[in-house]
Amino acid sequence: MAARPMPYLDELNPAQREAVETLDGPVLMLAGAGTGKTKALMARVAHLIMTRRAQPNEILAVTFTNKAAREMKERLGKTPFNLPAPIKWMGTFHSLSVKILRRHAELVGSSSVGNAVTVREVGAFDQGPVPNPNIGNEFADRPELHLKSNFSILDSDDQQRVLKQLIRANHIDDKRWTARHLAGLIDGWKNRALTPDKLSLDDAEQFNNMAGTLYAQYQTRLLELNACDFGDLILHVVTIFQKHTDLLEQYRRWFRYVLVDEYQDTNVAQYLWLRLLAGGHKNICCVGDDDQSIYGWRGAEVGNILRFEKDFPGAHVVRLEQNYRSTEHILAAASNIIQGNEDRLGKTLWTDRKDGEKVRLIGHWDGEEEARWIGEEIESMQRGTRGMGARSLDDMAILVRASHQMRAFEDRFLTIGLPYRVIGGPRFYERLEIRDAMAYFRLVVSPDDDLAFERIVNTPKRGLGNVAQQKIQACARANGVSLIEGARILLEEKGLGGKGGKELQLLVDNLARWRGDMLGPRIQVQLDDDAVLDDGPIQGAPTPEYGTPDVTHIELAEVILDESGYTTMWQNDKTPEAPGRLENLKELVKALENFENLQGFLEHVSLIMDNESDEAEPKVTIMTLHGAKGLEFPAVFLPGWEDGLFPSQRSMDESGLKGLEEERRLAYVGITRAEELCTISFTGNRLVYGQWQSQMPSRFIDELPEAHVEVLTPPGLYGGGFGAASRSGAASGIEARAESANVYNSPGWKRMQTRAGQSGGAKPKTKGNPIIDLEAVASFSVGDRVFHQKFGYGFIMEIEADKLGVDFEKAGLKKVVARFVTAPDD
Ligand code: ATP
Ligand code: MG
Repeated sequence: MAARPMPYLDELNPAQREAVETLDGPVLMLAGAGTGKTKALMARVAHLIMTRRAQPNEILAVTFTNKAAREMKERLGKTPFNLPAPIKWMGTFHSLSVKILRRHAELVGSSSVGNAVTVREVGAFDQGPVPNPNIGNEFADRPELHLKSNFSILDSDDQQRVLKQLIRANHIDDKRWTARHLAGLIDGWKNRALTPDKLSLDDAEQFNNMAGTLYAQYQTRLLELNACDFGDLILHVVTIFQKHTDLLEQYRRWFRYVLVDEYQDTNVAQYLWLRLLAGGHKNICCVGDDDQSIYGWRGAEVGNILRFEKDFPGAHVVRLEQNYRSTEHILAAASNIIQGNEDRLGKTLWTDRKDGEKVRLIGHWDGEEEARWIGEEIESMQRGTRGMGARSLDDMAILVRASHQMRAFEDRFLTIGLPYRVIGGPRFYERLEIRDAMAYFRLVVSPDDDLAFERIVNTPKRGLGNVAQQKIQACARANGVSLIEGARILLEEKGLGGKGGKELQLLVDNLARWRGDMLGPRIQVQLDDDAVLDDGPIQGAPTPEYGTPDVTHIELAEVILDESGYTTMWQNDKTPEAPGRLENLKELVKALENFENLQGFLEHVSLIMDNESDEAEPKVTIMTLHGAKGLEFPAVFLPGWEDGLFPSQRSMDESGLKGLEEERRLAYVGITRAEELCTISFTGNRLVYGQWQSQMPSRFIDELPEAHVEVLTPPGLYGGGFGAASRSGAASGIEARAESANVYNSPGWKRMQTRAGQSGGAKPKTKGNPIIDLEAVASFSVGDRVFHQKFGYGFIMEIEADKLGVDFEKAGLKKVVARFVTAPDD
């Protein structure tokens, strides 16, 4: 048979084909998890190109994560798609917006941030308001203020820092009116595409009557810093397109087709962004699932799905019903849970994968034990002893509700040497030394980045204390320039005595030299192809004026860390963390190898959602449920199904069902990630912020269909060998746990335990603790000498329920859980 030109079509069912082959006009693909929405979306990209409707660079495709974009790009280059060229404009709303914004940054100016109020200059340092003769300056005095193409992207830390300075400068008590609170308000407005001038009076009067004013000041301050926060990336693009229709027209001609995955999670600003770009030709295809809308807390609006049909009349709506991902048991569990939601469009899902194990449910004593059990399960699956055949670690994922759950798994896996990757967890790039190093890089790339300057001006110590910093600040303000420039002028005109003066001079000179090294000699060169669109240069593209630098950005990074004295600072540091920090700095330089230049790297770090290493070694994935959207794994573990954790306390405390329904959708997302095996677990006790809490099984557990669930008791875990299990009193403890698991298994118990929480009323008086280990306590008396793994030896002073008050020889008086204590002669 002759080779077929479009083999990707063969892999689709009729409904998917319809979605792929309806190329012109608006298309909405609305379907449940695992029905092949993303697969169809990729086929559609290929089809647009194969049918010559569009060139690869004329397609704008929005994915949910940068990781998803990377994977899609890679897959589109291979069978069955075999695209001749990569889709350049494929990425998240944020990354695509950065790309657009870099070209037109200067169009974002004082007027476009919607600033209508008087702007006061504020102190840039954390020490509080600096006396300022210029207070009351009108914005109009500074018409030159606009964003530049090398703007920095602030993370939430930086964002709150700026807000805190503004709050203080306005003489507001920042303990009572926190920067965090204000950041939340501002993010919310940006998600709804509200610039300061568009706020309602009610909104503007929040935050001690200052919200509107502070928001406006904040936007101005960001311009001064040549910076954007995350919300700005989208909002500025929307504002630019709204104001410059000629430019919008250019982009509309340029992007002939727009595609969006995970459409249910777009917020208003993103929706406007899409509507602007696709509003001309209306060639837009959105795919989504209302049951998987899990970002309401970040401003996502499921209503956008309904709005789509209104804004794009005549939209072709495609529904898919066959799930190709999961077995029947898994699908039944997920469907049963989501049926508990009232607010849904409703749809049917079926699978012909009738094979497979039931969804497994297991209770544990606490988070450590849960991690230990899951670790052992993973190892046995890896060896192939679970009847599934040997499995790669890449096939397994642990999806948590809250990132604090990750630590127990990380610790356990480190102990047993099980390779794992944490996606979206405590990130490498958030570590102190990495943030310091990056502040140096930021300052070299973008000299106006005052936040970066503040961060490193006296790190390492240069003898530049508060007074010196305030002088720099005052000089910068008086001249209307950045802090670096202010420092330069200060040194030139007034000088700065002592060690500080010399050191500052060195820093300023170094920064200028590093920047020169980065840019290379000043000559006219060819624009890089990314800066030119095929139909001619776009207005506002930066004019290149530098040649190829003599040093690579990697060499430069090393030079910066060395010459700034930053590496030496940690080499001379005697704290136990110092060696690790030096290792991390090396890692950082290594990470630069994957990028063409410092700016690309900094952009990447600002945008990444994961810290995945590129090594090929298989690893278990640990990530949040939120981050797992769109992904699939043969085996999925869902730990921590406990009321207060999942569903979250906040959602349970809320009046109305909105929060709880979102949590339920999250449960649905979690279960539907699994292809073959899904294991749900809960614990009786959990250490939350240093406090032991007894836990109730999640109300969602009661919504699992019994016919598709197997309830496990912890098998073989207590056969001895570790911890409390090996001590004499343990046997009865095991029985207590096993018994409780059996009790749990009875429908009556389930009703009693979980309905009590569900009826919306008060929690049961006795907290439902399925496996409280009172037996373990019974084996101790006051006065016993005991051993605790962390605190060492001590004497029991008091016994209360399952906790012991112990006077430890080294650690002093502590309250510990009896189970973690052994008699020393055991
Ligand atoms: P989610 O809502 O979770 O994002 P989705 O609808 O995007 O799911 P995909 O990830 O595209 O679903 O597909 C789920 C799985 O089903 C993938 O492994 C995919 O390869 C497979 N699949 C999709 N369509 C088909 C098909 N027509 N035939 C065989 N397998 C398919
Ligand atoms: Mg998908």
